[in-house]
Amino acid sequence: MNCHQIRVRFAPSPTGPLHIGGVRTALYNYLFAKQSGGKLILRIEDTDSQRFVPGAEEYIIEAFKWLNIPFDEGVGIGGPFGPYRQSERKEIYKEYVRLLLDKGAAYIAFDTPAELDAKRKETANFQYDASTRMQMRNSLTLPVDEVRRLIDAGTHYVVRIRIEPNEEVHVHDLIRGDVVINSSVLDDKVLYKSADELPTYHLANIVDDHLMEITHVIRGEEWLPSAPLHVLLYRAFGWEDTMPQFAHLPLLLKPEGGGKLSKRDGDRLGFPVFPLEWKDPKSGEVSSGYRESGYLPEAVVNFLALLGWNPGDNQEIMSMKELVERFDLSRCSKSGAKFDFEKGKWFNHQYIQLKSNAEIASLFIPILESHGIKADPAYVEKVVGMIKERVSFVGELWEQCSFFFVAPAEYDEKTRKKRWKEDSAAQLGELIEVLRSRTPFDLEGTEAEVKAWIEQNGYHLGNIMNAVRLALVGEGKGPHIFDITEAIGKEETIRRIQRAIDLLK
Ligand code: GLU
Repeated sequence: MNCHQIRVRFAPSPTGPLHIGGVRTALYNYLFAKQSGGKLILRIEDTDSQRFVPGAEEYIIEAFKWLNIPFDEGVGIGGPFGPYRQSERKEIYKEYVRLLLDKGAAYIAFDTPAELDAKRKETANFQYDASTRMQMRNSLTLPVDEVRRLIDAGTHYVVRIRIEPNEEVHVHDLIRGDVVINSSVLDDKVLYKSADELPTYHLANIVDDHLMEITHVIRGEEWLPSAPLHVLLYRAFGWEDTMPQFAHLPLLLKPEGGGKLSKRDGDRLGFPVFPLEWKDPKSGEVSSGYRESGYLPEAVVNFLALLGWNPGDNQEIMSMKELVERFDLSRCSKSGAKFDFEKGKWFNHQYIQLKSNAEIASLFIPILESHGIKADPAYVEKVVGMIKERVSFVGELWEQCSFFFVAPAEYDEKTRKKRWKEDSAAQLGELIEVLRSRTPFDLEGTEAEVKAWIEQNGYHLGNIMNAVRLALVGEGKGPHIFDITEAIGKEETIRRIQRAIDLLK
């Protein structure tokens, strides 16, 4: 085991909005680092200029701010191992490419894309490797002065790793155990391109993990096929002793299983696959985000934490602090995790209940304002306390409790037919008199007095209450009647009942 401080990194490529699977990867890195007081680094892997998307880096940073997953070092923060944006480390990579060339662990290749295509056509399953490299135009086959001449003439070239065939390559994975492959299946991957003077992902990734003293590489399963090459690169550099430990996380699968979760699944089933809303700078297409869909960041974190890991008991609701304490890479599953978005909604419901009424009220007030309502925060808090149990999203509150803020504009036809009886108008007329003389207009007192009046007159409790509910709410829903009357007050209660009598009799 490494006795140094744990250092992990999240290393996204800014090629678009961050997929929710990437968020989970970052979260697991965070939990793992924090449980041992280690460091989490944000490194931006932007060496593929073809795939660079403006705004993606800012999006990533904003997403983790919203989720409360702070980085210790990295882009936007700084730190002793910077710069943390790979496009600013060009000169560093050149040095290491040279090192590999000098060691004979890599070579220069001049084959043009057209030549490679021709070769692929000619040879089925062509792979640039030990079995074919001597037929190609590279520094292993061309005379030294020819290589020099081509480079001096500005001919584009790439640098390839030289992989020795028929060797067992072991990747020790903390989740999957020992993964062994034969080096013959690997090709001599491109590490560097002279055309843009940039390294490829593989080289930059390994050099930076080494220089940034990364102890553990925790990333998605889709990177597992690259891991043997990475092990060979560590070996080529002579860095085996400080090679990080690998942990490849299980894939996030479609809700119904069978295949990787994609943006299209989200569109098809109506759930976001991105943390924040994203507007594609080219097409203008907007993809929904968890934040804009009304999820609380704590709920998203808790939901994601359990997609591929479980604490071993049945506990589901865990704060970030508990997640940090309990997270365990060895309890991560090898097989994919179905993306159960209904469970995500359930988590949001739970977190709304856990939050104080004041916090939920502060999220609800802007929604009220958008409906033209300026309400006293203490009143909003009280209403939220009565209603939040019924919602999974703050955005659903209005639908559930608008009647606390505005009188019903109309009465639901079905409810009216069922609940407004022949004698409702007359009885509610009498009820108004009872209410008018009632002070204080408190919950228990008013309820007791109204019930006594109903009993004295031999009225039907259910019928009266249903008609009152229709008058106050406009339909058959809502909390306890006397919670509503106490909240909206005597004047408003009487006004609404009178209005129903006038309109419905
Ligand atoms: N840049 C890679 C990505 O976009 C990093 C993979 C890794 O963590 O090594 O995920």
